[in-house]
Formats: sequence, structure tokens, C-alpha cells
Amino acid sequence: SAISASKQVHYFSNDDGDRHQRRLMITQRLEKAIDDGALTLYFQPKQHLAEGQVKSCESLLRWFDDGTFISPAEFIPIAERSGLILPLGEWVLDQAFDQVRRWHQQGKGIQIAINISPRQFMQPDFVQGIARRLDSYGVPPSLIELELTETSVMETGAAARQVLVALRELGVSLSIDDFGTGYSSLAYLSGFPVDKIKIDRSFVQYMDEQPEQQAIVLTICQLAKNLGLSVIAEGVETEAQRELLASFGCDYIQGYWLAKPMPANEVEQLFVG
Ligand code: C2E
Ligand code: CA
Ligand code: CA
Ligand code: CA
Repeated sequence: SAISASKQVHYFSNDDGDRHQRRLMITQRLEKAIDDGALTLYFQPKQHLAEGQVKSCESLLRWFDDGTFISPAEFIPIAERSGLILPLGEWVLDQAFDQVRRWHQQGKGIQIAINISPRQFMQPDFVQGIARRLDSYGVPPSLIELELTETSVMETGAAARQVLVALRELGVSLSIDDFGTGYSSLAYLSGFPVDKIKIDRSFVQYMDEQPEQQAIVLTICQLAKNLGLSVIAEGVETEAQRELLASFGCDYIQGYWLAKPMPANEVEQLFVG
């Protein structure tokens, strides 16, 4: 039994093995979760800094697996690799459009920003899927924003540009998510028909303590302005961060300082009155 005990120890200390097991578990259960209704969308409001209004929110996937919360930061990359992101992404689009439709019918013009993964974006029928939903859900395109990653735009180059142009023609807004974490430059991005860039939380997080981070955020805000793009900062947690961003001319903020992601019925209260 000393031998099997040491084997156990060896097995459980094997990080690669553990990670592989967990990935398998997540892949299997996620497929079921889509059918079982274990997934839901939460919404996190965004605020216009100068005017103080909250008119839009970002949809974020939540998965409660038998009461245990599994983070999208963990399962989205796994789904992206396995291809499960495609049916999952379709499900997210339908849920988000359905929510926009409901709010629209209630006379609340709440815009929803939907996260789109690179693999989803590269599907040949992606634009068609958005056009079809705008039509079938009957929502104004101005109430839909798509958050695309730098990789989506960068890795597909000329093809991506055509997709962006087609989406823009539909009237939906486009933003570049996690800006600063990839390899794209603002100058390069400005050649693409996007409306907004979203400064990644990693830059915002320490900007009130680290001058370098602050300089990066300031530069992004100024350059974006000069290029005619609007800017949103994510992960704003403190009043100090909010004030700095306001002084930098940042247009919108999102983060725990304002509100955490929450269910639809809670977030809609913030838009009343
Ligand atoms: P993201 O798109 O960069 O979303 C922002 C993440 O930061 C969210 O994490 C949000 O809950 C979190 N956050 C917002 N404000 C704060 C703050 O003040 N402090 C801190 N510490 N965190 C904050 P979440 O919900 O865990 O999502 C993680 C990532 O998973 C997202 O990053 C996005 O890349 C991906 N994701 C989530 N939902 C979807 C989806 O429906 N489709 C796709 N393709 N990806 C999604
Ligand atoms: Ca996002
Ligand atoms: Ca992201
Ligand atoms: Ca981010």
C-alpha cells in the first residue's frame, strides 16, 4: 500500500495530467450544459463618463455546474480549442438577441455588447447569422455591439476587413476587446471599420499605482481620440482609477466600481429612471 500511495501522490502531483483530466471533464459537461439549461448570461453595465448615463451592458456567460461555478476564463478557451465554441456562440447570440428584444419591447433602449470568439468570427456564415437575427428578433442594429478580439482582426487580415465592413453595413457597433494584450497597433487598427476600443483590465488595474501603466492608458486614450475611435476602460475598481480615466478623456468605463455582472432582472433596474 506504500507503493500505491506513492503512485497516487505521483499521479495527483502531475500537473499536466490534472489539467488534461479537467479539460476532458469540462468538454464533456459543457456539451451537456448547453442542453440542460445550466448556462446563463449575466450583464455588466457600462457608464458614459462625462454624462454619467448607463445605456449599455456586456453579456458574460455564467455556468453553474451542479451548483459549482466554472469561470468562462477557464471554459471559453477550452471550447475554442474543441470547436464547442461554435454551438455555444450561437446559443449566446440567441440569448443576447432575445434579451435585447425584450428590453426593446419594454421601451428600454438597452444596448448589449456580445463577446465573439475568433473562431466564431471566422465562420463563413457569421455575418449572415447576425443579419438573420436582426431580422427575426426585430431589434434595431444600434442596440447590438460586437466585442471582437485583436486576434480576430489581426490574424485574418484582409478577410477580416471585409467581414467588418459587412457588419458595419448592417448597422451594428464594433469594438476591439482586450486592447493592448495582442500585437496590433492603434494605427493599424484605425484602418479597420471599428467604432471603439476596450482597454484591457491589466492596464487599468495598477494605473493609480504604476506610472508606466498610467502612461500606457493615457497614450491609448489620446491616440484613439485622434483616430476618431471611442474608448472604454474595463476592470475599473476604484474612484482613483475612474478620476484618472475621466481626466484622460476616456469615454466609457466598466468595472466593479460601477457594478459587477448580474442577472438580467437585476441589471434592468439600473436603467429605470
Ligand atoms: P472579457 O471579455 O475581457 O470580460 C471582462 C472580464 O472581467 C469578465 O470576466 C468580467 O466579469 C471581469 N470584470 C469586469 N469588471 C471587473 C473588475 O472591476 N474587476 C475584476 N477583477 N474583474 C472584472 P468573466 O465574466 O469571468 O469572463 C472572462 C472572459 O471570458 C471574458 O473576458 C471573455 O473573454 C470570455 N467570455 C465571457 N463570456 C463570453 C461569451 O459569451 N462569449 C465569448 N466568446 N467569450 C466570453
Ligand atoms: Ca469583453
Ligand atoms: Ca475578451
Ligand atoms: Ca479583458
